[in-house]
Amino acid sequence: MRDFSQDHRWLSINTATVRRQLGQDWGLLHILDACAGRGIRAVSPWRDQVAAAGLQATAQHLKSHGLELSGYCRGGMFTYTDAAGRQAGRDDNRRALDEACTLGAPCLVLVVGGLPGALAGAPAHKDIASARAQVAEGTAALLADAQERGMPLAIEPLHPMYAADRACINTLEQALDLCDQLDPARSGAIGVAVDAYHVWWDPKLQQQIARAGRERLLAFHVCDWMVPTTHLLEDRGMMGDGVIDLPQMRGWVEAAGFAGYSEVEIFSRDNWWQRSGAEVLDTCIQRHRRCV
Ligand code: ZN
Repeated sequence: MRDFSQDHRWLSINTATVRRQLGQDWGLLHILDACAGRGIRAVSPWRDQVAAAGLQATAQHLKSHGLELSGYCRGGMFTYTDAAGRQAGRDDNRRALDEACTLGAPCLVLVVGGLPGALAGAPAHKDIASARAQVAEGTAALLADAQERGMPLAIEPLHPMYAADRACINTLEQALDLCDQLDPARSGAIGVAVDAYHVWWDPKLQQQIARAGRERLLAFHVCDWMVPTTHLLEDRGMMGDGVIDLPQMRGWVEAAGFAGYSEVEIFSRDNWWQRSGAEVLDTCIQRHRRCV
């Protein structure tokens, strides 16, 4: 296992981590400056942040700082209620792929969607099996577009508490089953993003990480699970503050062949988003050395 204690060369910052700092408007370009200024070598930006900063301006800024991407957030949301919704989703996912290519991302991260309409508070039905069938169909269609562009797809299984509204793929096993169905040759065109927050509880985690192997392990996201957790979406903890054994999990992904970045992804409305971006980034660096 790599030694992270002496430097932070394998730290990446998911830019949502410092997107909403209290009293500060940290646009994406400023976030890139703040990361580069601390010797952070990689980031994973969100589409809305890139759109606000400008795609070309972002690409240029990444290049001038020599910053890499550890992923691009995000595509997916494959479920729909009618043909127009399905087409709109496909078009939007193609745009996401094109942006990922422009930015030089190693993969497009997919949050696959839950029951259609649920994210807006009005689920169209209760048929999660049909939602999962739409996800399989949508991922298959996007994979063809992704292969044309040479952009790998990383399915991110989300914690089951998000099954209704964000993602009906909830375990690494489910995600890998879909990968095997779509890409039995393990070509590298499709794999998974392993986010500690979503999968730490899974009794099959070690086994499924080993099953994924190098070809399928495209991203590794870290934060921590707080006890108690006070918000379903925006109460992620800083590494070391919760109950996830991150070094153990990193040991498993590295034993399976993963050698990329540990991407810190913290949505924290009442804690880390209330602090200065500088403090958050400095803390990420320290905790990455000590707790990941
Ligand atoms: Zn994640």
